[in-house]
Amino acid sequence: MPSITFLGAAGTVTGSKHLLEYDGHRVLIDCGLFQGPREIRDRNWDPFPVDPDDIDAVILTHAHTDHIGMLPVLVKLGFRKKIYATYGTVGLCRVSLPDSGRLQEEEAKYRNKHGATRHNPALPLYTEADAYEVLKLMHSLHYHEWQQLPGGAQFRYMPAGHILGSAFIEFYFANGERILMGGDLGRYDTPIIKDPSTVDFAEYLVIESTYGDRLHAPGDAKEMILEIAERAVQNRGIVIVPSFAIGRTQELLWYCNELESEGRWPGLPIYVDSPMANKATLLYQETTEDHDADMKLDMSEGNSPFRADMVRMVRDSQFSKQLNTSPGPWMVIAGSGMCNGGRVLHHLKAHLDDPSVTVLFTGYQAEGTLGRRILDGEDEVRIFGQPVSVRASVARLDMLSAHADYEEMLRWLGGFKAAPKKTFIVHGEPEASLAMQEHIRRELGWETVIPAQGDRFDLS
Ligand code: ZN
Repeated sequence: MPSITFLGAAGTVTGSKHLLEYDGHRVLIDCGLFQGPREIRDRNWDPFPVDPDDIDAVILTHAHTDHIGMLPVLVKLGFRKKIYATYGTVGLCRVSLPDSGRLQEEEAKYRNKHGATRHNPALPLYTEADAYEVLKLMHSLHYHEWQQLPGGAQFRYMPAGHILGSAFIEFYFANGERILMGGDLGRYDTPIIKDPSTVDFAEYLVIESTYGDRLHAPGDAKEMILEIAERAVQNRGIVIVPSFAIGRTQELLWYCNELESEGRWPGLPIYVDSPMANKATLLYQETTEDHDADMKLDMSEGNSPFRADMVRMVRDSQFSKQLNTSPGPWMVIAGSGMCNGGRVLHHLKAHLDDPSVTVLFTGYQAEGTLGRRILDGEDEVRIFGQPVSVRASVARLDMLSAHADYEEMLRWLGGFKAAPKKTFIVHGEPEASLAMQEHIRRELGWETVIPAQGDRFDLS
């Protein structure tokens, strides 16, 4: 009898790993890293919850680290079978995984130099070389293309609207029943990528609940970007946008390009100063099967939102330094999104004390990050060990998010013509998952299950 075991993202939002078992076969859905507070991150060092030799295949939903970040560990432990993903996801893994391995090596080196380590000496969870081994095992699939698995199971991908390449997995067991692995659910009417696909039935369903207890802030991102750009041009000011390389950066550029094609962009030069964001942006442009109708139209008219006369991709750190000392007006989009690393630190260090500068936040700022301290209105912050006074104005685009809120989740679930036999709610803080459960019970009358870490359920 088929079963599912929840090995991550159960009672928390990170570390997605779900094991499907049927007729002596095992398939791992996602292989994510635990992220966030120390006690959660420490779980990455626990023994891998299933023997890698016993796994027949890995199937990924999308390329966020909390869904793919443990792949190099799995491969380091000896896994050598196929890792399936959409074309977009494979592309993004190529961009992010080796980089993440390299950062881990650098961090371990730094810790060993500066003492206070958990391991003695500090070790990287995995290396850049481990990450390259993962890429060798990856197998790209188009959306809707069926893939056979050992033991008579098969699956296909459907667009999930979350980030480039993000997908639901429609997985059929040999007994003809299916489980829909929801991954992360995206939003309707967002730029560039397709809306979440409508699904009308699955015997079993696994859904996320990141925003199970919240609704996104209302507001028009495009108009807000315009206002900030106009002000910058008037004041000859600088706009610093700490942005996430995958998804958020491309969305912002799309809005800027829309304003430009409407004849409203005030001519503020835009620089993307992040090697990873630049690579991801090219993938967003090239992976045409992910494009929604508007993006297809833009592309067919030669009006890519990422075209060179609109956006300058900063390739070398020398130019990045030059940019830093050049007078406004200009806007720079640079990582990291929460200002805990990356080239954005140099821009902030050089300009935070200037009242004509605007820092535009594009997403959630976690506790303890530099971004959070700036957002909280601290007068002085430390960057590269030096005090910098904060006199720039701060703005935030809270309406941008790659996750559906609970109303959007209910809209998507409303596509089901009948209740699944079992619906599992994962990938949320406990309050968010409970709230989602209650929304589903009230709106749809479905009974759902919130699994705990390690819980196993028969699917029959
Ligand atoms: Zn995600």
